[in-house]
Amino acid sequence: MAKFKPCNEDQLVMLPISLQDQLVPGTWEHTISELVDKHIDLSVFDARYNNDVIGATAIHPKILLKVILLAYAKGMISSRQIERACHENIIFIALSYNHAPDHSTVATFISSMQSEISSIFSDILVVCEELELLGGTHFSLDGVKLSANVSKEWSGTLDELKHKRDKLQEKLARVIAEHAQADKHPQVEIERQKKRERRFQLQVERLNTFLRDREPKRGSDGKEIQSNAVDNESVKMPTSHGVVQGYNAQALVDSKHQVILSAEAFASQDHENLAPMLESAKKNLVSIGKDPAYFEGKELTADSNYHSLNSLTVCQAEKVDAYIPDIQFRQRDPRFAEHERFKDGVHGRQRPDAKPSRFTVDDFSYDERKQIYLCPNGKELKCHARNQVNRHRTYDVYYAHAEDCTACLLRSRCLSKPDTSRRYLSIQVDTGQPNLIDLMKAKIDSEQGKKIYARRLGIVEPVFANICVHKHMDRFTLRSKCKVDVQWSLFALVHNIGKIHVFGALI
Ligand code: SF4
Repeated sequence: MAKFKPCNEDQLVMLPISLQDQLVPGTWEHTISELVDKHIDLSVFDARYNNDVIGATAIHPKILLKVILLAYAKGMISSRQIERACHENIIFIALSYNHAPDHSTVATFISSMQSEISSIFSDILVVCEELELLGGTHFSLDGVKLSANVSKEWSGTLDELKHKRDKLQEKLARVIAEHAQADKHPQVEIERQKKRERRFQLQVERLNTFLRDREPKRGSDGKEIQSNAVDNESVKMPTSHGVVQGYNAQALVDSKHQVILSAEAFASQDHENLAPMLESAKKNLVSIGKDPAYFEGKELTADSNYHSLNSLTVCQAEKVDAYIPDIQFRQRDPRFAEHERFKDGVHGRQRPDAKPSRFTVDDFSYDERKQIYLCPNGKELKCHARNQVNRHRTYDVYYAHAEDCTACLLRSRCLSKPDTSRRYLSIQVDTGQPNLIDLMKAKIDSEQGKKIYARRLGIVEPVFANICVHKHMDRFTLRSKCKVDVQWSLFALVHNIGKIHVFGALI
């Protein structure tokens, strides 16, 4: 018969553990510990603590910072997970000096770091600069739309949310009526009823609190857009995998070692974010002693979501050598002529069952003698206004008779919306200098432009893959813009620490 060593749980074991020995040089935890201890100015947290005379001793901010940075580097986002790690994982125990902060201390620390995070970010950039990790001549900007810690279910116009509240109130009244019959049910059923009642009550209270004196949220065109009763700063944004209720997390990356120069979360579309991102990157660089004109003459690439006259104007004003293509640049590129994706529709968004494209100016013919345009249905479009300026271009505007369009069988291919009464046709008439959009098209279509723009993919996309896939930052766990901004900046910080860890032989 085989012999085994005894399996006896009833014994006491003394294991000598040196916390210091757990932080082995060359590991993530050692890099984080060294950076926090020697390179980050922790005095920015001093104003938070007012317990020098009375009050309990607090957990040192360096403990919280070390533990949070390591947790984020390991893809641990939840503060409860972090608390558990500080009890169970010897590395976290060593980093926290065996103090094990609880989850609410961790969560409060993260969500209240708005004023300190930029200083910490700059401290890490200084280390990157000392290790010569900065200094690329090419910068790339990109963003990712991440869900906020809310549900789309709580979004709607104020009228829609009022309707939802009324429905919930009806449900609540039904549940209360059922509860009144509770004596006839067993105890477990009564408990279930109570829970439902409480849940509906809370939901009605939440909507009532939100709707009290609430003004509608307005879009850039002044029309009401959907509010969210849980996090009203988050917005609904389309992504390639559906609509998310969340924030647009942006990062501006230096090409040399993919260090993030600026990171911020916005509740707006990409094309609105180029100017603030450039501004905050400049601010960060100036804080580490760089020239305010750091970006002058350097290349900046961003995808077509950033293409707008405003973005190009900002780049021109900053003297940045920008490469920001319009959405149709692939369709003009002969190298993509045979690609199914670009044969019809833009970027493959057109489904096989999609309607035929709308009539363009080319489908209308001009009658020189009558000075009118003829539509594909043979109807006349007369000039309605001349020399109308739009986005630095001058147009003559023609329109068809409403009666012709109402009875037209081609209106589904001609009018922008089914309820539009007639077709308007804008004919460009200016012969002035090409504007910034025309110049960018020419620049991006050139061989040199294509070559430079192609670098964007390899510079900025791996940064987002590292943060969103490798470090599991695929949704925000906090609510409100300033808090998600801190969370996104912390991940950018962890990314930069990763670069120091890999390339910084000194740490
Ligand atoms: S919708 Fe109007 S403009 Fe368009 S094809 Fe028909 S009649 Fe012509």
